[in-house]
Amino acid sequence: MNTAFPLTRDLVLIGGGHAHALVLKMWAMKPLAGARLTVINPAPSAPYSGMLPGFVAGHYTSDELYIDLIRIARAAGARIILGKAAHIDRAKKQVIVPDRAPIGYDVCSIDIGITSGMPELEGFTEHAVPAKPLDDFARIWEGFCQETGPAQVAVLGAGVAGAEVAMAAAHRLQHLGRAADVTLIDRSKALSRLGTQARSKALKSLNELNVTLLEHTNVLRVEADQVVVADRDPIPAKMTLGAAGTRAYEWLSNIGLAMEQGYIKVLPSLQSETDSDIFAVGDCAHLTHAPRPKAGVFAVRQAPILFHNLRAALSGGAMQNYHPQSDYLKLVSLGGKIALAEKLGVAISGGAMWRWKDQIDRKFMDQFDALKPMGALELPEEFASGFEAHAGPICAGCGSKVGRGALARSALHQTGAQRDDVVTLKGDDAALLQMDDVKQVLSTDHLRAFTDDPVLMTRIAAVHALGDIWSMGAKPQSAMVSLILPRMSTALQERTLDEIMRTASDVMRDAGAQIIGGHTSMGAEFTIGFSVTGLTSDTPITLGGAQVGDVLVLTKPIGTGVLLAAEMQMKAHGTNVAAAYASMARGVAIDALSLSTAQAMTDVTGFGLAGHLANICRASGVGAELNVRDVPLLNGALAMSETGVQSSLYPDNLSDALTMMNAPQTARGRLMLDPQTAGGLLAALSQADAKVAIATMKERGIDAIQIGKIIEGPVALNLIE
Ligand SMILES: Cc1cc2nc3c(=O)[nH]c(=O)nc-3n(C[C@H](O)[C@H](O)[C@H](O)COP(=O)(O)OP(=O)(O)OC[C@H]3O[C@@H](n4cnc5c(N)ncnc54)[C@H](O)[C@@H]3O)c2cc1C
Repeated sequence: MNTAFPLTRDLVLIGGGHAHALVLKMWAMKPLAGARLTVINPAPSAPYSGMLPGFVAGHYTSDELYIDLIRIARAAGARIILGKAAHIDRAKKQVIVPDRAPIGYDVCSIDIGITSGMPELEGFTEHAVPAKPLDDFARIWEGFCQETGPAQVAVLGAGVAGAEVAMAAAHRLQHLGRAADVTLIDRSKALSRLGTQARSKALKSLNELNVTLLEHTNVLRVEADQVVVADRDPIPAKMTLGAAGTRAYEWLSNIGLAMEQGYIKVLPSLQSETDSDIFAVGDCAHLTHAPRPKAGVFAVRQAPILFHNLRAALSGGAMQNYHPQSDYLKLVSLGGKIALAEKLGVAISGGAMWRWKDQIDRKFMDQFDALKPMGALELPEEFASGFEAHAGPICAGCGSKVGRGALARSALHQTGAQRDDVVTLKGDDAALLQMDDVKQVLSTDHLRAFTDDPVLMTRIAAVHALGDIWSMGAKPQSAMVSLILPRMSTALQERTLDEIMRTASDVMRDAGAQIIGGHTSMGAEFTIGFSVTGLTSDTPITLGGAQVGDVLVLTKPIGTGVLLAAEMQMKAHGTNVAAAYASMARGVAIDALSLSTAQAMTDVTGFGLAGHLANICRASGVGAELNVRDVPLLNGALAMSETGVQSSLYPDNLSDALTMMNAPQTARGRLMLDPQTAGGLLAALSQADAKVAIATMKERGIDAIQIGKIIEGPVALNLIE
């Protein structure tokens, strides 16, 4: 997020549909000072409809099909919230997303598409896949293509989309060598929206691909392996696709806006007829002044007008009107690399049309690839010695921490024991206070935000701080919040604080701790941390108890540092970033409980896996072998490491580790020093105890893995690749 200027107004985009994806791109090129931009979408990426039939046919990979919303949000300086809006409280001006605090807005825009679900048809919800939303359909289709054996597919609805999908499916299955039986069913005439010429060409293609077309056929119900229709035998179908229904999402009808059959009625300015602070575009909107069929081309053409009008609504400018074209060029894929073009009743088909369509679609997608991260600085012409080495972007999360060397040399570590109730530990995760029978552990940690979603960032920062308590086998007791917010108006402060404090309370309450205070100030960047305490009646598990022969168990995959660095540089895949977020947001209370028999334990954070293992070795006076190939990695981490991406803390971690091991020679080896944020627990325990702990965690859905063992000294680390 661009925090060079104070934030005063909130613009919230609901849905990462085509129009909003383009608005984000335009915002990246021309941001509006003072506006905080938020986009809410259930998935980190959204498919581009123009390429969907080609994806079904196998001409495009999923990487080519998807618009990576995390990447564009980074370029636009927008905060992305991975969730599904369920309501808009217009009186409070809040968007409601389940399981999180409401999101305040000044101006809101809705671009959530439609669904082609047919809940009124018996068995559809249980056994069929709607073609819309496109992302669910694309994912399920990919899974179906991985299967083997004969494939029977029924497509309900022989409009252009249904026919395209049927032809693409037939082409793909034949190409995969599977005996394919594709049936396209419509209750009236197929392809009725196409002109005569185009229709007959499309019907010919269906026939050539052996797609069985059943017109004027009523579907009675969908079953697990067949579609039951009136007046003929059931149609065998291992997969039934619904392309017939076009339905607006039901929750839109509860907002109190003027609607047309469930779609939001909008003015030419794309503002709701009822509420000028709400805009609607794409399939979910109804253009009262010029109704049009549901097609992505309109969402795309609305984007520049929407972009202009959203800025006008935020800053007081004049609105522009959107006038849709009366006819548009239809480019229909015909299964193979052949397409049909139709405009004003004239139709041409063939390979050249496919290449033309392919060029248009790739150009559309390429515009997102050219984006750069917002705020990327050019190096000045003149600078002081040593400047260049530190001038790259600083990572966030644990990647932004000060290296261990500087810390060790600072006055912080030269104070020594001054009180009897402070127990001196050898560099443990938390400090230990012994007061009569009570053992209290304390820790503090804060993170420079790597996501502008305050809810996600708060959750991860809380889990990160609690990791120090859990890793010592203690139970969380209290927490204090320490917060730096970027400069913003009082209204935005209140909204942001509400999101943060609700989340912090939820996480701490679930962990058994109470928030007892905190401190907030304004500064250059969003930074959040927690000071936490925990209690234990047992002897805390420290770094210093590992025994020769113990095995090492790790409870989360590693790679967050490299993935967060890659995300900031817009190199990471949004899906992998979202998975890394989910991993960081998972608390390790159950892991700690399962590992209560550990002789030594730590949470893996800024020093990286090898660095934290080195801490155990130093404190326990032992050596360790780490089987690098056994260490679980987050998806995409290895690929990023192979391309040379590193966290900005990596060089510090490496120089510290070199006192105990050789420099890693490979991309996988380098990940062992990748700083982790809210990482898993690393424990040393006997082989028997490890077996029990791993099995217990498995029952709870946690994939803990044995990654090495403790060996005799000298204190050293051996990375085995
Ligand atoms: C098989 C098929 C092929 C098609 N081919 C073409 C074509 O070639 N050309 C063409 O012009 N049109 C085509 N269409 C139509 C086209 O898909 C749609 O018109 C277009 O996708 C509409 O774009 P949109 O911006 O309205 O929303 P969408 O592209 O549908 O995107 C909506 C986004 O909002 C998200 N969302 C949904 N609910 C919520 C919520 N509650 N909160 C937050 N986010 C939410 C979704 O996950 C999705 O990311 C095709 C349709 C199908 C089914």
